[in-house]
Amino acid sequence: MSKQITVAGVTVDPGKKALGVIEIKDFWADGQCMEIPFMVLHGSKPGKTLFIQVAQHGSEVMGLDAVRRLIHELDPAEMSGTLIYCLPNPLAFREKARATMFDPKPGGMNRIWPGNPEGSLTERMAHLILEELVSHVDEVVDLHCAGRHCPVWVYYEPDGVSELAPRETAERSEEMARLFGAPVLYVEVEAYGGRKTLRAICVDKGIPAIVPELGGHSHFDEEIIQLTHVGLRNIMIDLRIIEGEIKLPKKQVKLKWRGDPKISVSYTQKGGVFVPTVKLGDIVKKGDPVGFIYSPRTFETIETLYSKQDGYVFTIRENPVAHQGDGLVSVPEILGWLEN
Ligand SMILES: [Zn+2]
Repeated sequence: MSKQITVAGVTVDPGKKALGVIEIKDFWADGQCMEIPFMVLHGSKPGKTLFIQVAQHGSEVMGLDAVRRLIHELDPAEMSGTLIYCLPNPLAFREKARATMFDPKPGGMNRIWPGNPEGSLTERMAHLILEELVSHVDEVVDLHCAGRHCPVWVYYEPDGVSELAPRETAERSEEMARLFGAPVLYVEVEAYGGRKTLRAICVDKGIPAIVPELGGHSHFDEEIIQLTHVGLRNIMIDLRIIEGEIKLPKKQVKLKWRGDPKISVSYTQKGGVFVPTVKLGDIVKKGDPVGFIYSPRTFETIETLYSKQDGYVFTIRENPVAHQGDGLVSVPEILGWLEN
């Protein structure tokens, strides 16, 4: 039997589910408080604790439906360990915006971790989430989403990028990324986001963490919601919080994330209309054509775009209207393939 736990002031008995809010009083000018909602599913048997959050970039809500399905099928009485879910950024969520207009920062909430109890609105929220929720957990999944211009991928940081992150943490982050089951693992071989992301802060504390980016289609894309649902289940099964069968795709590719986009992105030198000649997931060589630009005045081809390096076609810009200097196709280097 596991023991009762108290998370952000909410006490949860073994085998029970509880809802709570982190309340920040005197938050708004009109005197209203901020509420950051969370849920705890506390297993009847002891085990690991997983933290899942969705939409810290408030418009990136696609993971919610996968979490909804997961929560509905979980029975804490049958669980060994604990799941904590949080909607971390109600500010941006209610605005349907990546970053809130009340605290606009490039990169939004995911560039201000670990937050600051005396900082901006979002910094205060991040600080409390870290102190009150993440302090209880063994592993972190921070769900984001991207557009139609890319596949689903999972960011993680390998060993050696951070001096603080233990090797085991990096190795487990890679394993979590594999378990999520996305076609692409995007390996942050350089420090990302000024190391001010939740993911970076967690791994520096020895908490393995991944950032799945649900790209590809609309918010209602069933295939991607199912992939996410299965991916979260896989991680929980691997942590032995729940029982079940881990389901993985046959092959996954590991791509090298580089901070400088000039390494992988083909930019047009001429304004015009873009036509890609590759599709997402194609494998190309340095110098292979990846698209062309035609003039909307003459319909003549005025430029051919070539791949900067050998690699995997990872993004193709959706809108064909291209101005001089626009990045249109990215081809990161392939680090290797995982066979499951
Ligand atoms: Zn995001």
